[in-house]
Amino acid sequence: MDGVNSLVDAVYAKEAIVEELRRRVGEEGFRRASRDWHARRRPIPCGMTVHTGVGCSYGCLYCYIYDMGFTGKPQPYPLSGEELALALALNPYVAPGPRGTLLAFGSVTEPFMRETAWRAIEYLESTRRWLGNPQQVSTKTGLKGRLLEKFVEAADPRIDVLVSMTTLRLWKALEPGASPPEERMEFMRRLVEAGLSATLFLRPIIPGVTDREAEDILSRAAYAGVDKVVLGTLRVAEGILRRLRASGAVDMGEIERRLARWPRRGEQLPIYSRDLKEKIALKAREIGFKVLPASCSANIESHRQGCAACRLGPCGDLSRLPPASDREVARLLEALGLKPLKVSVKGLTVEAAIRGGRREAEIASYWIIGLLRRSPRVKAVRS
Ligand code: SF4
Ligand code: SF4
Repeated sequence: MDGVNSLVDAVYAKEAIVEELRRRVGEEGFRRASRDWHARRRPIPCGMTVHTGVGCSYGCLYCYIYDMGFTGKPQPYPLSGEELALALALNPYVAPGPRGTLLAFGSVTEPFMRETAWRAIEYLESTRRWLGNPQQVSTKTGLKGRLLEKFVEAADPRIDVLVSMTTLRLWKALEPGASPPEERMEFMRRLVEAGLSATLFLRPIIPGVTDREAEDILSRAAYAGVDKVVLGTLRVAEGILRRLRASGAVDMGEIERRLARWPRRGEQLPIYSRDLKEKIALKAREIGFKVLPASCSANIESHRQGCAACRLGPCGDLSRLPPASDREVARLLEALGLKPLKVSVKGLTVEAAIRGGRREAEIASYWIIGLLRRSPRVKAVRS
């Protein structure tokens, strides 16, 4: 998907995908897909999140999903694989294709729980087949046996697998349902051995726990062949603080000291962790890791692309940014049904003025991020 035709072609390809999938899933399937949240939600910084299940049984004490109303009794996500691909193709913010919107599987749930693993594999296969977007999955499960084989068969061959680790010693107390850390390490080793991309997701960094174990975790991951790491801050809500305190496993004084203020009801707040991240990043680099600024960066790296869409970047190989001229971008926006008044590609930024409101500006912005991997500065101009 390079050059003028390919940018515009992505729009037409999406229309053709919708038409074909609509025919395949029938009117009832089309209704389910078009009403689904995947057809409407805006991407978040790591890309478009794909929910493979609802709820999670792993019960991590630091997890925010229970404070969002999700339960510990997971169900596979209700759409079929083709319906899910159709929902994403119907989403006006999603650009399809190998150079399109990044897909992130495993948000607000664990994809490879017993109850949802086959659904996750079905979604990886269907989105790969119908949309072809860069895939990333984040997990605390050490896949093995038949599931691992099916996963490797189904997923995008350049998929990035983010394997989360917080502790080696206290996982039974803090992540009671997750795979033991040694199984997660073994999973990463097998991925690397199979030529796939595995990234260590050292998240959340729990002060007094993760920072103390970081060197050990990093060394074991390096031994498994992993050479990329993403570091993530602990975010707390009232329920998380309550559960962590009740566990008796962590130093709550250290966590509370790092909070700018107490979280209000329904609110999540990050703790201060820059010092811990800097210390761990230093150690990681010494061991030979590339320390990436965000999970999307690992997706960009594994797909050998470049991205300069946000201030955390640039990431990956900038020589692989898709070429873009003012005219090409204007044609893309027109093909999306938008009315560009002015477009200007300035290095790593795309400025545009669009006739319309916030929604039109957002659609333009997400396609600029998705297809051009540049930072959008889009202004809506009401007539
Ligand atoms: S595995 Fe993920 S979604 Fe499930 S409880 Fe743990 S952090 Fe939350
Ligand atoms: S520049 Fe890097 S961190 Fe920012 S959106 Fe792109 S890949 Fe993600």
